[in-house]
Amino acid sequence: MENSKAQQFALVSISELGSSSPSSPAVARFSAAGNGVAELRFQPESESAAPVNVDLQAAKLYKLGPLQSVCISEGSDTGKEKLYSRGLTIQFKNEEESGAFHHAFEQWETELVVEGKCLPNGELTSCKSKFDDKIEPSSAKMYFHYYGQLLHQQNMLQDYVRTGTYYAAVIENRADFTGRVVVDVGAGSGILSLFAAQAGAKHVYAVEASEMAEYARKLIAGNPSLGQRITVIKGKVEEVELPEKADILISEPMGTLLINERMLETYVIARDRFLQPNGKMFPGVGRIHMAPFSDEYLFVEIANKALFWQQQNYYGVDLTPLYGSAFEGYFSQPVVDAFDPRLLVSPSMSHVIDFSKIKEEDLYEFDIPLRFVASVGTRVHGLACWFDVLFGGSTVQRWLTTAPGSPTTHWYQLRCVLSQPIYVMAGQEITGRLHMIAHNAQSYTIYLTLSAKMWGPGAEQGGIIQSSSCKLDLKEPYYRMSQPQPYVMAQDQQPHQQLHSQDL
Ligand code: SAH
Repeated sequence: MENSKAQQFALVSISELGSSSPSSPAVARFSAAGNGVAELRFQPESESAAPVNVDLQAAKLYKLGPLQSVCISEGSDTGKEKLYSRGLTIQFKNEEESGAFHHAFEQWETELVVEGKCLPNGELTSCKSKFDDKIEPSSAKMYFHYYGQLLHQQNMLQDYVRTGTYYAAVIENRADFTGRVVVDVGAGSGILSLFAAQAGAKHVYAVEASEMAEYARKLIAGNPSLGQRITVIKGKVEEVELPEKADILISEPMGTLLINERMLETYVIARDRFLQPNGKMFPGVGRIHMAPFSDEYLFVEIANKALFWQQQNYYGVDLTPLYGSAFEGYFSQPVVDAFDPRLLVSPSMSHVIDFSKIKEEDLYEFDIPLRFVASVGTRVHGLACWFDVLFGGSTVQRWLTTAPGSPTTHWYQLRCVLSQPIYVMAGQEITGRLHMIAHNAQSYTIYLTLSAKMWGPGAEQGGIIQSSSCKLDLKEPYYRMSQPQPYVMAQDQQPHQQLHSQDL
């Protein structure tokens, strides 16, 4: 069994058996207490009411009706004072919620395996979730703290290309949602769950690990005609249990360069855990597009940043020993901005990721061989990358693209800049390798090599190769937003090639 760290349910009300105090809306939270024993805590909404803690090892849950249950926790008299049994009547919003709560209760009741827990017959190793196994806790903490803030959700909601494309893809493909069970993987504010409900979903499970789950509950409660078909489940996709399988998954797991944040792995885990065989995924396919670019301004800007360290008399101190490291440091940051597609030196190539088929482990490393033919003679300063995803609806197919020259999104585009540019002539072949390896801070280390056969005397005989490599950390991008404004294509200046043919 997987060890869920915590799971929460919003209850319509709880009231204590044999007590005259009024019933109150409450939140029930299952968690692993410090001593390794699973505990259930009922927190009434009103500030004045005290929480009720229930020892799951000494508690029973009974159904009184479809929306009502009673939780009895047995008293004990082991301590100095005798503790009497207590009973709580619980009122659920709907049957799904009741089912999910009973399911969680059973799971947590048997939950004894927590890190370092000593059992009479020896110590058990922890059974961490897939997420905890590969992600550094400090990274996860910062990550979910970020998404727990409304301002960052607003930033995504205000990306109208993004949110509008999701909306259109869902609403135009009603047939894929009507009467179906949907799971929203990383629901954030719950917006995609609300779209799915608008498209007629029978029920939506909105799974969200950050504190945003509470806001999603509020937003969903404030839209009751849709909200009655949505259940928010606070917890990690890798850890929570759902009461039924889904017909369709909806998610927005894309980071910079598609793969940053490593949330595609979560999406694939959700597929394996929650989706019916042959269920749909929205989106179902992603593509990373790549092309060499030439941008003298960008190159000089980055190289110049390190010039500071060339000073030999900075308040009497020689800074040059650190020049090399500073130079390397600046070139290890991928540049994020919207660039003019005319900077591309050749047509792009793409790497396809089929979300419905790929194994989770196959997302740990990408090794992409590169081959381009230069359209112009120029200095190549690096590799430009962007992505798109496909909503393969049964009525309408829709792409969400982040290509240069297309309406700008909050993902912009990404460029890996070489500290040593390479020279190419029109028609010349550029080869290379883009090797990306996942790390435990929810991102990737990128190794890029670009090569071109040199021209000039001797080239015909030996084939002298110019080659340039760099190592970058996708986690530390350089946001270069103040500089060029998102590109607006002038009437008389069409790009010199068609960039994104939408066929796979
Ligand atoms: N679906 C929303 C939010 C997208 S951002 C929208 O489209 O506007 C991605 C969300 O997924 C964040 O809120 C993040 O907290 C959540 N998330 C990321 N990894 C998760 C995981 N492993 N389990 C649950 N939620 C996760």
